[in-house]
Order: sequence, then C-alpha cells, then structure tokens
Amino acid sequence: TSFDEMGLKDDVLRGIYQYGYEKPSSIQQRAVRSIVEGHDVIAQAQSGTGKTSMIALSICHLVDTSNREVQALILCPTRELAAQTEKVILAVGNFINIQVHACVGGKSVGEDIRKLEHGVHVVCGTPGRVFDMIKRRTLRTRAIKLLVLDESDEMLSRVFKDQIYDVYRYLPPEL
Ligand code: AMP
Repeated sequence: TSFDEMGLKDDVLRGIYQYGYEKPSSIQQRAVRSIVEGHDVIAQAQSGTGKTSMIALSICHLVDTSNREVQALILCPTRELAAQTEKVILAVGNFINIQVHACVGGKSVGEDIRKLEHGVHVVCGTPGRVFDMIKRRTLRTRAIKLLVLDESDEMLSRVFKDQIYDVYRYLPPEL
C-alpha cells in the first residue's frame, strides 16, 4: 500500500511527502486505516518502526481544524516523547494549519494556560500536567474524539495508572 491508498486527506498527504516519507512503514500500513475508520487500535512494534508518525498521520486526518477545540489527546510517559510527537504532528500537519501543544511538567504553567486558552486542536503531554490543566478547566475535554496512550504498557503500569484514570474520568463518555 502507498500513502495515497490509505484514504488520507490530500493536505495530509502533502504534509507527509514534504516531510520526506515516500512509503508507509508496515505498522503505518496496518494501523492508520483502522484508526481513521474509528476503530480502537492497539499497535505494538519495536521502536523506530514509525509509531509516532502513525499517530501523527491519523490525528492530522481526523482533526477538524475549523473547530478550535481539543479533539485529540496523546498521553506520553516522558516530556521528550511529548515534544517529539508535537514536532511530527506539526510537520505532517503543515498544510492543515494544525495547532498542537505539548503540555508537560517542568514547563511554565502560564504558557500552558495561554496556549490552551488561545485554542489548540491537539494536546500531547504527560499525565500529571494534563490532569492539572483539565482540573483547572483550561483544557476542555468535551470535543476529544481520539485518545492515544503512547507506550501504553508503561502508561498502564503502576507508576502512571492512577493518573491515567484521573484523566479518563473527565473524558467524554462516548469516546
Ligand atoms: P518512530 O518510530 O515514529 O519514532 O520513527 C522512527 C524513524 O523513522 C523516525 O526518524 C521517522 O522520521 C522515520 N519514519 C517513520 N515513518 C517513516 C516512513 N514511512 N518513511 C520514512 N521514514 C519514516
């Protein structure tokens, strides 16, 4: 399968090709279509096989950028992974004008609030700071239609489990 055959929006395809990819990796071929069709997907593969881009592609396709509400939430175990994910979404989403914010601990809370209140389509972040923003009602969850647990084995381990459940309780029930 080529990227063209995956049912992605033209402007997302332009973003992928500009980023320099020519052909989807195996996990991208197998997972993107299912995600885009609205299925719940668990994707497992070794590192370096294109999972971050798989997430970015799917999100760029599914987000409606004319609606300035948070529509996709990606929870990551580390700040670096959140930053990397933000970078790839911005690159692939270059032609759809996607607004992304990495919401992570250790960064300025004021900057988080400013960005979120200005309106973003996608938040990728670490669970603690994301939950903080949800509790303040700065991160509004009602329009979220896509939740990603990056490194889900780690995210559902003892360390993060309670924080993930805290976040879950604020997500739309129909998600
Ligand atoms: P990831 O597993 O998403 O961190 O990706 C690992 C590396 O492979 C990164 O440098 C990506 O930019 C690159 N990559 C991901 N998908 C593709 C693709 N379809 N074609 C070429 N390079 C890719």
